[in-house]
Amino acid sequence: RAKDLGGNNFQFYTPTMNESARERLEIENALRNGLERAEFVLHYQPQVDLLTGAVVGVEALLRWQHPELGLVAPGGFIGIAEEMGLIVPIGAWVIRSACAQAKAWQRAGFGNLRVAVNLSARQFSHEDLVSLIANTLEETGLAAECLDIELTESLVMTDVDRAIAILTELRSLGVQISIDDFGTGYSSLSYLKKFPVDVLKIDRSFVNEIALQSKDAAITDAIISMAHGLGIRVIAEGVETEAQCEFLSRSMCDEIQGFLFSEALPAASITSLLLEERRLPDHFLRMHKPSR
Ligand code: C2E
Ligand code: MG
Ligand code: MG
Ligand code: MG
Repeated sequence: RAKDLGGNNFQFYTPTMNESARERLEIENALRNGLERAEFVLHYQPQVDLLTGAVVGVEALLRWQHPELGLVAPGGFIGIAEEMGLIVPIGAWVIRSACAQAKAWQRAGFGNLRVAVNLSARQFSHEDLVSLIANTLEETGLAAECLDIELTESLVMTDVDRAIAILTELRSLGVQISIDDFGTGYSSLSYLKKFPVDVLKIDRSFVNEIALQSKDAAITDAIISMAHGLGIRVIAEGVETEAQCEFLSRSMCDEIQGFLFSEALPAASITSLLLEERRLPDHFLRMHKPSR
């Protein structure tokens, strides 16, 4: 803590520790200012339906437009914001902006486009979460079923009973629940029947190797079959190559997200992509593949 560095204790810190503590303080201050100065922006990555090839949703991904550092990816600051608790107000801003933007796209005529937002542990354990989401939906006018809440397995597994209670409340609002990075956490499959879950997002570490590694292919196939058996949709993350997309299509995956179709883009670029009605080419689509 910053206050521990004061007074006579100062001499006990090595220069390296001082340096990193000071660096840390600078980042904390800059983050606090960043929120006040509206330096955060959302980029959006398309989620593409493998039946139609159309963009059916977007995932909101946070970026920090720092005056000197430029555009900072979440890996560079989310952890610190989480530890500071600043992720709570930042996260509230994310939910509001994402809902408002999705509603704007819907008003512009782009169907019932969904928007997905990522929640951190701090936000998930915050008592106001459900009312925050309910109020935001009401204020922005976005239909609840168009909002997708992404949570990681480890986040929901830390306190299973509490998680089930919160997810049930969120579900009753009508929002969708996605398990992000599926397969990298506990993977306690038996819990899936207890959790009210709409979507599994297969982690990109599996997707990476599906065209090359028969084990990852088998795991991915199994996740998709199991999810469908439970009435859960599947989105594959980090789809970069045609071979990966073809495999997922044959395995009856529902949607893909990844650099093959598009990286995360500023809202204006998503608007252009939607205006052009950019789609995934027909030969990638599920109906064009013989079932296995
Ligand atoms: P995530 O939710 O699993 O998001 C997917 C990450 O993979 C994104 O990184 C995205 O840009 C990247 N990605 C997408 N397609 C591909 C691909 O084809 N290949 C590769 N190599 N990467 C791909 P990003 O934007 O840096 O976000 C990293 C993580 O930060 C996210 O992982 C999420 O856990 C977290 N995050 C992002 N935005 C927020 C937010 O608003 N709130 C919270 N709490 N966390 C966020
Ligand atoms: Mg995510
Ligand atoms: Mg993910
Ligand atoms: Mg991830």
